[in-house]
Amino acid sequence: MSLPSLPGTVDVCVVGGGQSALALGFYLRRAERERDRAGRPPLSVVLLDRRERPGGAWLDAWPSLRLFSPAGYSSLPGRRMPATGDDDNPDAAHVVHYLTDYEQRYDLDVRRPVLVAGVADAPEGGLRVHTDHGDLLARAVVSATGTWDRPFWPGFPGADVFAGRQLHTSDYRGPDDLAGSRVLVVGGGNSGAQIAADLVHVAATVRWVTREPPRYLPDDVDGRVLFEVATRAVSDRAAGRESAGVGSLGDIVAVPPVREARDRGDLQAEPPPVALTEQGARWEDGREVELDAVVWATGFRVALGHLHGLGLSRSSGHPATVAPDGSPNAVRCADARPLWFLGYGDWCGPASATLIGVGRPARDTAEDVVRSLDD
Ligand code: FAD
Repeated sequence: MSLPSLPGTVDVCVVGGGQSALALGFYLRRAERERDRAGRPPLSVVLLDRRERPGGAWLDAWPSLRLFSPAGYSSLPGRRMPATGDDDNPDAAHVVHYLTDYEQRYDLDVRRPVLVAGVADAPEGGLRVHTDHGDLLARAVVSATGTWDRPFWPGFPGADVFAGRQLHTSDYRGPDDLAGSRVLVVGGGNSGAQIAADLVHVAATVRWVTREPPRYLPDDVDGRVLFEVATRAVSDRAAGRESAGVGSLGDIVAVPPVREARDRGDLQAEPPPVALTEQGARWEDGREVELDAVVWATGFRVALGHLHGLGLSRSSGHPATVAPDGSPNAVRCADARPLWFLGYGDWCGPASATLIGVGRPARDTAEDVVRSLDD
């Protein structure tokens, strides 16, 4: 790990140091080597990450979290994730180890811990990146900050009066500190199902509430299948064909702990309460239960606060973007700025927020960034 001192000027500044940033770093390294062979000027690239260590969001995952794909289908470009041996749905520690090794193997220049506080237009051209370790001038900026740093807490009636503990998926570090507690888990996605399954072994009671009845994907559907379906949906839509997409398959990947809890009958979802009360929660029929804790497994939003100062125009709930000619999986800012987005979800390429899915958008982003620098 380099000390967090910053170069004054770089060609490319990547904001973030998680899997998306590393996949991009891999392709930018490759572009550097090609330029070197062709006798062209070198490319300077730096990645800035607020974390102390490699691993991005995976550093915060709970011990029982399992990837929804085998290791071989959870790999970044260039380096296959090693298998784990047993059921081969790796845990988060395995992913952190893999990302740490990946970063070292490709000698990626990640400066940590460096927080990017803002990005501004530079009068001399390019973008000025303001950090807690000083400023730098970049000819191009790629934002790859993920979503984990922006948990979504729904405004819920009574949440302000509930006297028990409230935590979000992003705070959940495993079942032990909720042992013996009466817990409400809110959310019908993968996190909600996995946390509820995790807690049934140690909590006094677990109530799992979902707005709709839980929709499990077929047991043999894993991340590889999801990636293929997401990719097909994008090309179908681009060709003007109807496409059902991943959402049509279900919401919850039946990873082994979830499947086992479901099959034992431990994962019985019910509709959400109408309100939290001081001591617990109240349902529409007047029923009240006492609770010690509520876990909000209610998702995340994109962590783009560092770009607010640019006043970017917006479309469909995120910054307006264009797909550059020749690099269809890259997502470039629609305003006239040397700024790209990577890894935030399907608007940044099919399955771009997954290990297997970020490779193609990263490749196209690197191509488009380098092309723009050469223009
Ligand atoms: P991150 O991993 O969040 O990395 C972004 C980095 O940027 C972080 O280190 C962050 O601290 C840093 N950062 C943020 N803002 C700033 C700033 N202003 N300045 C400097 N640094 C900043 N994917 C799979 O492929 N398989 C799975 O099984 C899987 N399971 C998942 C289970 C859960 C519960 C969740 C929430 C996600 C899961 N994902 C899975 C999705 C996916 O792998 C993650 O969302 C992934 O972490 C996204 O990678 P990223 O690099 O884009 O973002």
